[in-house]
Amino acid sequence: MSEALAAIKITLPDGSIKEVAAGTTALDVAASIGPRLAKAAVVARVDGELVDLGRPIRTDCRLELLTNRDEDALAVLRHSTAHATAQAVQELFPGTKIGQGPVIEGGFYYDFDREEPFTESELASIEERMREIIARDLPIERRDVARQEAIDHFKGDEEPYKVYFAETKGGETVSIYSQGDWDDFCRGPHVPSTGRLGVFKLLSVAGAYWLGDEHNKMLQRIYGTAFFAQKELDEHLRLLEEARKRDHRKLGRELGLFSFHPEAPASPFFHPRGATVYNALVDYCRGLYPRYGYTEVITPQIFDSSLWKTSGHYEHYRDNMYFTEVDGREFAVKPMNCPSHCLLFSEGRHSFRELPVRLADFGRLHRYELSGAVAGLTRVRTFAQDDGHIFCTPEQVPEEVASVTKMILECYEMFGFEVKIMLSTRPEKRAGDDSLWDLAETALHEALESQGHEFELAEGDGAFYGPKIDFIVRDALRREHQLGTCQLDYGAPERFNLRYIDSNDQEQRPVMIHRAMLGSLERFLGILIEHCGGAFPFWLAPEQIRVLSITDRTAEYARNVEKQLKAEGLRAFSDIRNEKIGAKIREAQLEKVPVMLVLGDREADAGTVAVRYRKGGDQGARTLEALLEEVRDWMRPGAAGDSTPA
Ligand SMILES: [Zn+2]
Ligand SMILES: [Zn+2]
Repeated sequence: MSEALAAIKITLPDGSIKEVAAGTTALDVAASIGPRLAKAAVVARVDGELVDLGRPIRTDCRLELLTNRDEDALAVLRHSTAHATAQAVQELFPGTKIGQGPVIEGGFYYDFDREEPFTESELASIEERMREIIARDLPIERRDVARQEAIDHFKGDEEPYKVYFAETKGGETVSIYSQGDWDDFCRGPHVPSTGRLGVFKLLSVAGAYWLGDEHNKMLQRIYGTAFFAQKELDEHLRLLEEARKRDHRKLGRELGLFSFHPEAPASPFFHPRGATVYNALVDYCRGLYPRYGYTEVITPQIFDSSLWKTSGHYEHYRDNMYFTEVDGREFAVKPMNCPSHCLLFSEGRHSFRELPVRLADFGRLHRYELSGAVAGLTRVRTFAQDDGHIFCTPEQVPEEVASVTKMILECYEMFGFEVKIMLSTRPEKRAGDDSLWDLAETALHEALESQGHEFELAEGDGAFYGPKIDFIVRDALRREHQLGTCQLDYGAPERFNLRYIDSNDQEQRPVMIHRAMLGSLERFLGILIEHCGGAFPFWLAPEQIRVLSITDRTAEYARNVEKQLKAEGLRAFSDIRNEKIGAKIREAQLEKVPVMLVLGDREADAGTVAVRYRKGGDQGARTLEALLEEVRDWMRPGAAGDSTPA
C-alpha cells in the first residue's frame, strides 16, 4: 500500500477524530475545519510537541492548533522573529556570522559575530529590513538532512557557529530551515511564513561570550521582543520603560538606601534609610514566627572545614565559598545555615514528642559569585536569608509543608504579589532510593492539594537530596521572581547522623525541611524597591512622616511635633530649613515620604497640623492626636493595605 493511501486517525481537543491520509499537514487539518482557523493557526501541537503547521503527520496522534491566544504560539512567534532579525542583519552586513537566537522571558535575542559594534541607527535599519522581509512573505521551510550534510552546508556558508551546532546538537538527522535564500540550523518550529510575523521591536545590543564562556570570543547580542498585536507591544514597552525608571540600583542611590565600594565587591552597604527598611523586613518575619512555631537561633560565621566535608559543601560547593586558615586549621565562611542547624539538632536526645523542631536564623552568609553575574542587590556576595529548618518525623511532613505554604502565602499576599507554586520532582541524578522519593513527592502533593492550592509540576527539577516546592511571585511590572522555597531533605539527617526516639523507643531519622519566604533579604529588597517604585508602604517607609515649617516662626513648633511623633515610635523628621514650602514639599514627594505635615502660623496658634499625603495631596488640618489615631494602624505590617497613602 502506498503511503498516500494509508489512513491515520487525528484526535482533536474536543475529542472528535478525523481520518486523513498519512502525510497530511496540520495546516490541511485546520483548512478542513475552516478557513478562519487555517488563517489563525500559528503552530501545531502533536502529541504534546510543538511542530510546524506544514510538517507532514504520519501516525495517529492528538493534534491541537495553536492561535495567537496561546503562550506557546507567542514563543514560536518570537523565535521566528529572531530568525528574521538574523536574516536582516546578514542582508545588510554581509560577512557577519550568526550564533544562536533563542526565546527568553519577554522576548528573544540573536548573537552575531561582527567586528564593528551595532549602532542605534543600525538597529533602526535592521528593523526596517525586517519589515521588508515580512512584506516578502517568504515561506519558512524545513529540510531534514543527515548531520554531515548540515555540517558541510554551513562550512560552505562559512558559518563556524552553525557548524559547531550541527556537530554537537540533535541526532543523526538534523533540520535546516530556510526563508527565501537565507537559512539557519534550527530545531524549529516556526510560523509558516515571514508574512505571519507580528509586531516587534529591537531593544538593545550587549556583549555576550560565545556559549557564555569568558574564554571565548565576545559576540554582539541583539535583544528584541515581538507580539501578535500592537497594543500588547505598546504595553510591554511601557512596562520596560517603567522598569528602567524603577531600577533598584538607580532608586537605591536616589533614595539613599545603599551603595557599593570596590573594596568589598558585590557587597552592599546599607545606609540608615536602607537599613531601616531591611530591619523592618526582618521584624516582619520575626512577627510571624511565634504563630508558626519557630524559634530563632544565632549560629557562628566561620567553621572548620570538617563541617563542610560532612555536609557535602566542601565537595560540591567549594568554588562558591570563602576559606581562611587559623592555627594551622582550614576554616570556611558559611554559605548556608543548614549544617549549623544540624549541629544544633544533634545535641542531646530527642523524643518524637519534641518534634517538630523549627529553627529560624537570619545569619549572614557569604557566597562567591562571578563578578559578571552580580548586579545591584539581585546577586550579591554577602546576604542574609529569612532562613528556617524544620526537623520532623516522616509522618509530620505533609502538615509541616502545609504550614510553611500557608505562612509564605500570607506573606506574599501582604506585599501584593501574585503567586505561582511549582512542585519539582526527582531529578535524574539523585541520592536515596525511589521508595523514599515516592513518599516525599506524595507528601508534597498532599500538602498542596489538602489546602486547595493550584500548582505546576516541574518534573526532574528537584534538588538531588529531595523534592521541593518553589514559590514564584509576579510583581507590579508583571515580571516573575522565584522567592520562597520548601525543600525536603533526607540526606543531611543521614550525613549528620541525626536521630530521634520514636514511640516504640526505637531510633529513627528525622526529615529536614529547608524553607525561606523572602529568600535573600538583599535580593528581596531589590525586588520590592522595583515592585513599589521606591514608594514603600507606610510600615516599611524609612521616613514615614516629614514635618515642614513654612517660616522660621514655626520651626520650634515643627521640632516639637517631630519629637512627639518619635515618642510614638514613628519615623518622623523635620525640615526647618529656610526654603520655600513648595520646594520642601516637592523634595519630600521625590523622596517618597508618605505623609507630610505642613506647619504655618495658623497651625502653631491652634496646635494643629495640616496633613498632606504623598499620594492624595492636601488632607486638611487636624490635631496631632487625630493624626496619630489615623496612622497608628498603618504601622502594622500589611495593615496599611489599600489605605496606604503611598
Ligand atoms: Zn529557529
Ligand atoms: Zn537549608
